[in-house]
Amino acid sequence: MMNSKSWRLLLERDFGRCLHCGETVALSPNHRINRGMGGSKLRDKPSNLVVLCSRLNHMIEADEVWMGLALRYGWKLRSWQSALDEPVYDLLLGEWFMLDEYRDWETDRKSTRLNSSHRL
Ligand SMILES: [Zn+2]
Repeated sequence: MMNSKSWRLLLERDFGRCLHCGETVALSPNHRINRGMGGSKLRDKPSNLVVLCSRLNHMIEADEVWMGLALRYGWKLRSWQSALDEPVYDLLLGEWFMLDEYRDWETDRKSTRLNSSHRL
């Protein structure tokens, strides 16, 4: 389970809101590669986590259409993918970001703009 410091730093990095809808209250950490697919250590690295609202987190797990969307936007990854190499799409900003592990959570998103047409 994520500790409160890690959660606070993750929230700061992700602008304190859901990447998808902008919700700021009912939020939860979303693991891009799920438990059991790469070990717990890798799983809780910053590059493997993004902030989503609890509602979306639930829909992704429950509905394959939403899972497909999450995979397209890099919110979810396949087990063979690397979280460091796959960009995340911020729907509110309309930009792709790379996530890194530098300074162990203290990191900002690198505003590496990627061509969105490449994945959309
Ligand atoms: Zn949301």
